[in-house]
Amino acid sequence: MQRFEGDLTQQEGLPDASIDRAIELLRSGRLHRYQTGDAESEAAAFEREFAAWQGTEYCLACTSGGYALFLALLAYGVKPGDAVLTNAYTLAPVPGAIAHAGGRPVFVECDDDTVIDLADLEVKIKQSGARVLMVSHMRGHLVDMDALIAILTANGVDLIEDCAHTMGAAWNGTRSGNFGIAACFSTQTYKHINSGEGGLLVSRDPELIARATVASGSYMLYERHGAGPETGAFDGARFQMPNCSGRMDELRAAILRPQLAQLDAQVERWLERYRAVESALSRSNAARLRDRPAQEVFVGSSLQFRVTAFSPAQCEALVRHARARGVELKWFGAPEPHGYTSRHDSWRYVSAQTLPETERVLSTLFDIRIPLTVSVADCAVIGEIIVAAIAVAAAAEAGG
Ligand SMILES: *Cc1c(COP(=O)(O)O)cnc(C)c1O
Repeated sequence: MQRFEGDLTQQEGLPDASIDRAIELLRSGRLHRYQTGDAESEAAAFEREFAAWQGTEYCLACTSGGYALFLALLAYGVKPGDAVLTNAYTLAPVPGAIAHAGGRPVFVECDDDTVIDLADLEVKIKQSGARVLMVSHMRGHLVDMDALIAILTANGVDLIEDCAHTMGAAWNGTRSGNFGIAACFSTQTYKHINSGEGGLLVSRDPELIARATVASGSYMLYERHGAGPETGAFDGARFQMPNCSGRMDELRAAILRPQLAQLDAQVERWLERYRAVESALSRSNAARLRDRPAQEVFVGSSLQFRVTAFSPAQCEALVRHARARGVELKWFGAPEPHGYTSRHDSWRYVSAQTLPETERVLSTLFDIRIPLTVSVADCAVIGEIIVAAIAVAAAAEAGG
């Protein structure tokens, strides 16, 4: 049986243009975005380019995706104790950002396709009285955005999108991130463009971006910010917002700009790889993958499947057999959290909530990352290894 010899955590190196510009900047010592005199800063240039690529008005770059989520909530006006709706199945920085802004996370169940459950959303809106939903497009899966917007509009609930896994994705021709009053992206190493750490907040609302800019630590230098709204938009914000220092530096912005230029081509490369794993997995009757909706353009930087018939022991055996052949699977049903946490019961600072559907779905849900260093041929091998591991786990545990 074949073994996968690659590394599912290895991202590609950065483009030469990123490296060259980084070295120039390091030689210059001018690494602060408000220190560039009359020249446009790298940070402002990147914000301008990202907003244009995204098809929105404004982008504010900051220190991390989680920080961008926090800024969005703060600038939106979340007050201490306010209920904020979000997915029960998401990554830890999402409830963390809500807590950071003083809000109270109210978790909404996920459905069998791992997206937010719209029926439960309606229930939780009524129960909580929340005015805002921070929807997390977890692992790049978009819920039916038309249905979501209809529910939110009918109930007067605002939308902030967590697009950490959907930079480059779209629903019915509209880019993910353009559906609500604001959206956030991450440029952390495992996302779609890589500056180690970094976050982006986008919006069409000049006042919201002005409040976020002051909160991100612009001091009274916001007139030098570059890519932001007109000075007048800052009138309400300049003395009202706390400075929660979290600016993006020149170095990170500089290495992101050439990556943004390549992003559309990278999305194509991810799709080829996703389809190769998916096609191998389709040969297993036990593995259940989401049929990707026709309205969705997605970025295949990771893949999820469920083995709904498996017991916890069989799930553990599957992880073990796949690992023995070099494929590291993440199982969301593991009793003890390790690595990155995505389960509501790992976030005990939030009051305990009952989420049986989410727990049921996560109990047999598996995930792999698909970095672009892995070839399309290797993706097929990974898929075959998973199919074989499922068969072995099914037989061994059923017989024993
Ligand atoms: C990575 C991630 C974030 C933000 O992450 P940072 O590490 O703070 O940049 C937010 N939501 C989801 C779902 C993520 O995976």
